[in-house]
Amino acid sequence: MLEAFGLLPEDEHDRELAENVHPGNWVNPSPSERYNIVVLGAGTAGLITAIVSASLGAKVALVEKHLMGGDCLNVGCVPSKGIIRAARAWADLQRAAEFGIGVPPGVTCDFGAVMSRMRRLRARISSNDSAQRYAKLGVDVFLGHGRFANQETIHVEGGAGEVRAAGRHGHTGGTGQHVRVHARQPNRGSGRQRVSQCRRDSESHRPHARRHSCRRLSPSRSRSAP
Ligand SMILES: Cc1cc2nc3c(=O)[nH]c(=O)nc-3n(C[C@H](O)[C@H](O)[C@H](O)COP(=O)(O)OP(=O)(O)OC[C@H]3O[C@@H](n4cnc5c(N)ncnc54)[C@H](O)[C@@H]3O)c2cc1C
Repeated sequence: MLEAFGLLPEDEHDRELAENVHPGNWVNPSPSERYNIVVLGAGTAGLITAIVSASLGAKVALVEKHLMGGDCLNVGCVPSKGIIRAARAWADLQRAAEFGIGVPPGVTCDFGAVMSRMRRLRARISSNDSAQRYAKLGVDVFLGHGRFANQETIHVEGGAGEVRAAGRHGHTGGTGQHVRVHARQPNRGSGRQRVSQCRRDSESHRPHARRHSCRRLSPSRSRSAP
């Protein structure tokens, strides 16, 4: 499974990373009847959205199909800084004489060791973005590919291996998961409730639809979250 995520199965650091951000034995929780907010994707944006919403008392579901932490932890900010730091050390060695430091000839760079250090550092901080941590903080963490089944429902499939399509109305069976999307915001001024829903059409087959679309549903369609 680690290979599918671009990780090294034999590497202890990558195994630790996977244990945190996509545990092989993760069992998705039984979905609540209704959530205040369902976050698709546990990258930087999704993690922050989930944790802030949960800390404000919202009932939150977080859906991740790949590795929690997203690009930043797994392939972006964190690993790049580890490699850049090693490159800087190497560059400093090349310029050592300029600073009056004598470096004996024959100094080498072990790129494998550079990458191993990067994987160690990445694994060490991955507990911050871990499924376990977010679950403990009150977020329902679902590992699997999320797809809109309809305007209110996200179907979570794959990932944990136990997630399969169940019915169409937000209930869950033993092996199936549906999550209800319910984003509710106060209608300032009138005190009434509106429902607004945003989704990204990045997987749309219509090129002109590859953008964020937000639409506000009529008040009559809004329902209360528990
Ligand atoms: C090499 C590199 C270095 C970078 N360095 C920095 C830096 O130093 N500082 C900085 O601020 N930024 C940096 N960035 C940018 C940073 O990584 C991104 O801004 C950040 O990751 C964006 O977060 P995000 O949550 O929007 O998206 P992502 O991190 O891409 O997360 C999206 C998540 O959604 C999941 N997902 C997508 N579709 C679904 C679905 N249908 N169901 C379930 N899950 C889904 C994906 O698997 C992914 O985990 C760097 C990026 C790169 C590539």
